[in-house]
Amino acid sequence: MSKILIRGAKVLGGEPQDVLIDGETIAEVGTGLRAEGAQVIEADGKILLPGLVDLHTHLREPGREDSETVLTGTRAAASGGYTAVFAMANTFPVADTAGVVEQVWRLGKESGYCDVQPIGAVTVGLEGKQLSELGAMHDSAAGVTVFSDDGKCVDDAVIMRRALEYVKAFGGVIAQHAQEPRLTEGAQMNEGVVSAELGLGGWPAVAEESVIARDVLLAEHVGSRVHICHLSTAGSVEIVRWAKSRGIDVTAEVTPHHLLLTDELVRSYNPVYKVNPPLRTERDVMALREALADGTIDIVATDHAPHPHEDKDCEWAAAAMGMVGLETALSVVQHTMVETGLLDWAGVAERMSFTPARIGSLAGHGRPVAAGEPANLTLVDSAYRGVVDPAGFASRSRNTPYEGRELPGRVTHTFLRGRATVVDGNLA
Ligand SMILES: [Zn+2]
Repeated sequence: MSKILIRGAKVLGGEPQDVLIDGETIAEVGTGLRAEGAQVIEADGKILLPGLVDLHTHLREPGREDSETVLTGTRAAASGGYTAVFAMANTFPVADTAGVVEQVWRLGKESGYCDVQPIGAVTVGLEGKQLSELGAMHDSAAGVTVFSDDGKCVDDAVIMRRALEYVKAFGGVIAQHAQEPRLTEGAQMNEGVVSAELGLGGWPAVAEESVIARDVLLAEHVGSRVHICHLSTAGSVEIVRWAKSRGIDVTAEVTPHHLLLTDELVRSYNPVYKVNPPLRTERDVMALREALADGTIDIVATDHAPHPHEDKDCEWAAAAMGMVGLETALSVVQHTMVETGLLDWAGVAERMSFTPARIGSLAGHGRPVAAGEPANLTLVDSAYRGVVDPAGFASRSRNTPYEGRELPGRVTHTFLRGRATVVDGNLA
């Protein structure tokens, strides 16, 4: 097997070290390492992180291959420094059976760019009425442990309770898209000053917060584990903080876009800013950053939601909700969290690799950069400054809110079990 020597990399942002990869494994970490015949990569003080893990990706296959496929989505993931992604279940057909999750899992294996761990639907057809075959999906080759109706909320309290009870038996987790459906009927953006001025239907914070409050109480009652998807309000932070202080087994994620963008952008009526949950206020953004820094919010997850041009390039009311995120996530986190002094690189590794892998019970990822561990690694040039140009994306879709915006940092190399999937910033 081939050997690769990464020389002078700041492992998790620490002092420069050399990392020797032998085959699929990290053989040695130290200074002044030598290896006969190894390919040498001069890191020159770049940051070396464990391969990133995204707990919330929409790969769109099967069914919406016009927006993304497992292959294009995993290429986008590798470009963004990811070595594993969890694929959401809202495909066509819905990933609510062992057959569909195995299909997605197999397509991920064939892609070779990034490991794909399917998420199973909580309810049949995401309809919220009848539990899916959770056990069969868990027992399948895909080994599903995370279940979500994401895109829709599991709004029936009895269904949510049963789902929590069911997954408890095998250590699974329910990832809730918290959105009370009646409170958000016809909603187009965050409910607040801007929605009132624009005359657009508002999406109140309480629609998210009330479901989170109910679900942490249900998780406590059942003694099971709940994960909150894309938390977006200051009030949601308060509830999760309270739940954790009570010892409730809850984890939460925030998206890069909710760490940076606000509902003021909706004044442009550019549908690229239309997303679910909606962009909130500056106060919410600041609360989310603080909560990610202090551990109330456990992880960053992209909610990468590719849409074809025709579904986004239309009037606001008709446009699809969602943004692509895999290829810009780390840059947005560097900008909002590292360069503001809220997180160091070790903290980034915790929130974008170690903890998401742990929440999803994913073996082989989110491991320390140490001898004997799988060589899933990401090398980041944090000094780089560049303007986002979606024309260069590996994703099939271009619906990024950052077009033309300067963001820091660039992934120069990604290694999946010792094999380079990205070299010098380009897909291998
Ligand atoms: Zn969602």
